[in-house]
Amino acid sequence: MNKDTRVSERDKSNRLTETDVLVVGGGVVGCCAAYYLARLGLDVVVIDRDGINDQASGVNAGSLHLMIVSRFFKSRDPLWIAGRNRLLPLVMASVETWRELAGELDRDIELVLDGGLMVAETDGQLRMLEEKAKEERSHGLDVEVVSGSDLRSIAPYFSERVIGAAFCPDEGKINPIMATGAVARGAERAGTRFLRSTELLALETTGDGFKALTDNGAIRCRRVVDAAGAGAATVAAMVGVRLPIETHARLMNVTEAAPPLVKHLVQHGDRMLSMKQAARGNVVIGGGWPAVFDHATGRPDVIKKSIKGNLGVARSVVPGLGPLRLLRTWGGMLTLTPDGDAILGEVPGVPGFYLAVPPNPGFTGAPICGRLLAERIAGKTSTFDLDAFSVERFAS
Ligand SMILES: Cc1cc2nc3c(=O)[nH]c(=O)nc-3n(C[C@H](O)[C@H](O)[C@H](O)COP(=O)(O)OP(=O)(O)OC[C@H]3O[C@@H](n4cnc5c(N)ncnc54)[C@H](O)[C@@H]3O)c2cc1C
Repeated sequence: MNKDTRVSERDKSNRLTETDVLVVGGGVVGCCAAYYLARLGLDVVVIDRDGINDQASGVNAGSLHLMIVSRFFKSRDPLWIAGRNRLLPLVMASVETWRELAGELDRDIELVLDGGLMVAETDGQLRMLEEKAKEERSHGLDVEVVSGSDLRSIAPYFSERVIGAAFCPDEGKINPIMATGAVARGAERAGTRFLRSTELLALETTGDGFKALTDNGAIRCRRVVDAAGAGAATVAAMVGVRLPIETHARLMNVTEAAPPLVKHLVQHGDRMLSMKQAARGNVVIGGGWPAVFDHATGRPDVIKKSIKGNLGVARSVVPGLGPLRLLRTWGGMLTLTPDGDAILGEVPGVPGFYLAVPPNPGFTGAPICGRLLAERIAGKTSTFDLDAFSVERFAS
């Protein structure tokens, strides 16, 4: 059924919901926004065309990254340099927000901040990590480059190929399925209504807000938060806004459960690798290897070559992974902004329409994005200048 037919099918249903804020997207960003909005006393409805946490937020690696991604650091593009200067304080505040959430939500979110290591196998990589650490420290992030016996004493599980690593004690991991679920429950307890299997098809501006047309009835609201992840540009286009994001299919792998092996969040300074051991002992391995979007199913699918490549890098860094069997591999859609940073706030010229695109790393950055947006919508003062994250920065 095409979109226009579905809109007129909706008219027949005559269902009309009213709310103050409509959040489009029940991923981690939409759930965090709803959580803080509802706790600030606003009436909130979250819609998702699938279930809650079914897309990127439910299939990601659960790394809480703080150190600058090497690729971003090496870039001389002024857009990227400005982006990473804004990004570090934002993600640092976000990990603190995850820490607070872990204390106030009613379920364990398996948050462990045991530190992260970005490894080097060559002198050149180690020098780059040293330079990067200098910049990270200038933003107040605790990062130290360790090598030799110092490194072996922190992480005896690395192969001899690893000659050093940047260590950040505040990095860590989280269970993305449990965490988004717990935030959604918290939002629901604070009064948020969730409408699952409800796709936004069109947005009409009215004198005092919007009329959202969905395949599950119409919703009148004063404000709309676009937290639609890979679908955010389509939603923005409904009110004539061009959102410059890209989506990429990415691979994830998980091994069978093993006794404690990898204590830290591990990344590579130059190769595509992220790795951590989950609470139940399974080792989650990713790092940006490509998957492929399958147009027939509307879902990402895995590529054999990527699985082989990803596991090869992982085993070369941590040989103890060798005997572990691979339990499952899957793909997810990653959304990237042109400078790696979040796009947040009300769109100039479209009063009441707010963008909520997280930075890269998105799961790490989600709670602060949700909180800042909620504070702005509720008219509270924030610790961050939200205008710096406006989509307007890409206008030229
Ligand atoms: C493989 C992979 C690994 C990753 N690893 C990490 C990591 O280790 N650490 C980290 O910090 N980040 C990681 N990320 C990034 C992170 O997962 C995302 O940035 C984050 O989850 C995005 O959250 P979101 O709520 O914006 O989007 P999503 O979780 O995708 O949620 C958006 C929701 O909007 C809904 N939607 C879309 N269009 C509509 C519409 N028209 N009407 C109604 N609903 C709609 C979708 O169904 C979806 O549920 C990873 C991503 C991938 C793909």
